[in-house]
Amino acid sequence: MRDKTLWTTYTDEQKQELFRFNEEYRQFLSRCKTERECVTAMVEIAEAAGYRDLNDVIAAGGKLKAGDKVYGNNRGKMLVLLNVGRKPIEQGMNILGAHIDSPRLDLKINPLYEDSGFAMFKTHYYGGIKKYQWVARPMAIHGVVAKKDGSVVNITVGEDPSDPVIGISDLLIHLAKDQMQKTAAEVITGEGLNLAIGSIPADGEEKEPVKKQILNLLAEKYGITEDDFQSAELEIVPAGEARDYGLDRSMIIGYGHDDRVCAYPSMAAQLAVADPETTSVTVVTDKEEIGSVGATGMHSQYFNNFIADVMNLTGGYCELKLRHALAASRMLSSDVSVGFDPNYPEVTEKNNTPFFGYGPVLNKYTGSRGKSGSNDATAEYIASLRRLFEEEKIAFQMGELGRVDQGGGGTIAYILANYSMDVIDVGVPVHSMHAPFEVVSKADVYETYRAYCAFLKRF
Ligand code: MN
Ligand code: MN
Repeated sequence: MRDKTLWTTYTDEQKQELFRFNEEYRQFLSRCKTERECVTAMVEIAEAAGYRDLNDVIAAGGKLKAGDKVYGNNRGKMLVLLNVGRKPIEQGMNILGAHIDSPRLDLKINPLYEDSGFAMFKTHYYGGIKKYQWVARPMAIHGVVAKKDGSVVNITVGEDPSDPVIGISDLLIHLAKDQMQKTAAEVITGEGLNLAIGSIPADGEEKEPVKKQILNLLAEKYGITEDDFQSAELEIVPAGEARDYGLDRSMIIGYGHDDRVCAYPSMAAQLAVADPETTSVTVVTDKEEIGSVGATGMHSQYFNNFIADVMNLTGGYCELKLRHALAASRMLSSDVSVGFDPNYPEVTEKNNTPFFGYGPVLNKYTGSRGKSGSNDATAEYIASLRRLFEEEKIAFQMGELGRVDQGGGGTIAYILANYSMDVIDVGVPVHSMHAPFEVVSKADVYETYRAYCAFLKRF
């Protein structure tokens, strides 16, 4: 473990392949900043690779056989890709699971107001954030407004270089004497995360003329009214592209690596491994950052319903067989972990922390305060993965998320494990996790992709 960084072991061809794969990922990350945008892009890529909507197969009265490829799109926010293997599904599947939601600021249901000559948006943050990181920077709006007539308006503002951006102000240092005495948790409050979105008053309006001017603009550009915010999902995210990071371009900085840096390689591995012996499945899910709840979170019944439908079309569905299929499956919960950071050595324990450039991290357990809330993978399952990765010459590192009692975290691993399935977390180490811009090593992204391919092909 960790005797040589991957940068010294790759051949020139591998390095070329590594940079090519990472450039594809960088472009995906720049384009897909919400769960909906990830699903839209992934459906497009999967369809081009021969995947069909399972609902279309069902509607056409079709059947499924080995080699067939289908997907399930749950409300545009969660996606399952499945490639039927030669072995009966009842004998188990190889599953990769990542999440495509990321910490951000959501607009409140009634967001728009005017104060002192400014039109403003109120927000409610989503996921675990340090609020002080989200001020004084250009922000973009991504999302949808669903109208009463059934139409859905897609909105993206702030990504094209010619677009305007919006943002939240911070207090000038000159007047920050009181603010600087506060703890980091209190410097910026949740109710203080208000965006300035305009300052020109509408002609001839006496009451809230700046707000009126913004409403005129929204009506003209998108055909929406103030009430339409009631049925909208508008996410405020850092504006701008993901970029190569480091003078040697060895890393990528971008918004939402957690967990698109595992979701993208999972999807890519799913498409790369054709005609698998064992049925291969990749699920990318919503709502992980707030507990995997709701109809599009991993706790919903969508995943097992989808597998039941597939078994029905391969001629083998009954409740008992479905239960056997899930219990006999193996999963890599593809989610990120911490990477050792020389600026913060005190929060990790060097013998058990992942480093950049040494490949995917296997987290036997996550959780906090005595592993509470974690999926604790079995020693036997880990041994089988060690053997596989060794045979396939995949570098990997075992790790933990930080020092004991320093904090902790969770993933979707324990949810799939509830089916009595073998599950372990395997993903990319990250710097500045949950900050507006996070950092990963390109070597780890590439090696994680290789690990996922080996898992789907060989396990
Ligand atoms: Mn995550
Ligand atoms: Mn997270």
